[in-house]
Amino acid sequence: MAGIIIVGAGQAAVQAAASLRQEGCKDEITIFGDEPWLPYQRPLLSKQYLLGTETEEQIYQRAEKFYEDQRVVLRLGERIESIDVAAKTVTSAKGEVIPYKELLLATGSRPRILKIQGSELSGIHYLRTLGDVNAIKNEMAPGKRLVIIGGGYIGLEVASVAVTLGLDVTVLEMEERILKRVTTAEMSEFYHQLHAGRGVKILLRTAVSGFEGDGHITHVLCGDQRIAADMVEMPMRVDDVADRQPRFGGMTQNRLRVSGVAAGVHHDPATRTKQHHAVAIRLLAGHERTTQQVQIRGDGFE
Ligand SMILES: Cc1cc2nc3c(=O)[nH]c(=O)nc-3n(C[C@H](O)[C@H](O)[C@H](O)COP(=O)(O)OP(=O)(O)OC[C@H]3O[C@@H](n4cnc5c(N)ncnc54)[C@H](O)[C@@H]3O)c2cc1C
Repeated sequence: MAGIIIVGAGQAAVQAAASLRQEGCKDEITIFGDEPWLPYQRPLLSKQYLLGTETEEQIYQRAEKFYEDQRVVLRLGERIESIDVAAKTVTSAKGEVIPYKELLLATGSRPRILKIQGSELSGIHYLRTLGDVNAIKNEMAPGKRLVIIGGGYIGLEVASVAVTLGLDVTVLEMEERILKRVTTAEMSEFYHQLHAGRGVKILLRTAVSGFEGDGHITHVLCGDQRIAADMVEMPMRVDDVADRQPRFGGMTQNRLRVSGVAAGVHHDPATRTKQHHAVAIRLLAGHERTTQQVQIRGDGFE
């Protein structure tokens, strides 16, 4: 019999599965995730995991046994390509068509990819997945020049870890102060002084215009300025167009094709779609959508 399918295997998905069981849901629950690892705590990537004080196993949200005990089937490394809401099926990248009774979309966000001169050079990293951080960790070494693009929380966390590990760190911030989007001028100044005091160079009003290198990054270009770099880190910026305005109905939800409902149906602020057997959730710090707003009932959710 068709059960509950959760698309995406991040924190929202795992918490939703746990809450469903806690509330007495007896349905079969299957989580599809396109990453190969057991669901992990993404916030720790730029903190303890990058620093090396926690291992991969230590940042998993739940041990493997939890999924066995709770009868939650994890199908990792499997991307769901499309949803047919009328037929109540999802189709995986391998072409398997899977029926569902209830569908939960927990596909999260993806990084906005910068497409400027030289952005394809090696040594330029985004930071969203465990794989991204492993690649960054492999390249990090004392004395290397790391340029971080953007003085937001994640960029500054990476800066802090990198100076601790002995790298030469420069943060580029296009605004007149770091953390401008998230805090007051006083707090920005406090954090500026804190990081500068630890040896992080912070260049304000400095916007990236391109990258230079011969296969591998050698310089970050900011107008007339050329900043030497052995590696570049771009903290994750959410793709606003695709992810902050998720749509459900003939359109896409994080590159997921959806058919079977009228085009342009937006889910409401409580994340319900017009199709009551399908719900979209996302954990976004500081935003109105959280798992708490998804009302989970013993016999399913709406
Ligand atoms: C480096 C870093 C540090 C952060 N630090 C903090 C912090 O300190 N505090 C804080 O509050 N937040 C922090 N965040 C943000 C926080 O991690 C996110 O808000 C949270 O992970 C969102 O959880 P989610 O389950 O909604 O989505 P995600 O964690 O994005 O998980 C969604 C998963 O679904 C997968 N997926 C997407 N589409 C499909 C598909 N079609 N088929 C199968 N799988 C799919 C994705 O690959 C992903 O694995 C940080 C984020 C990053 C990247």
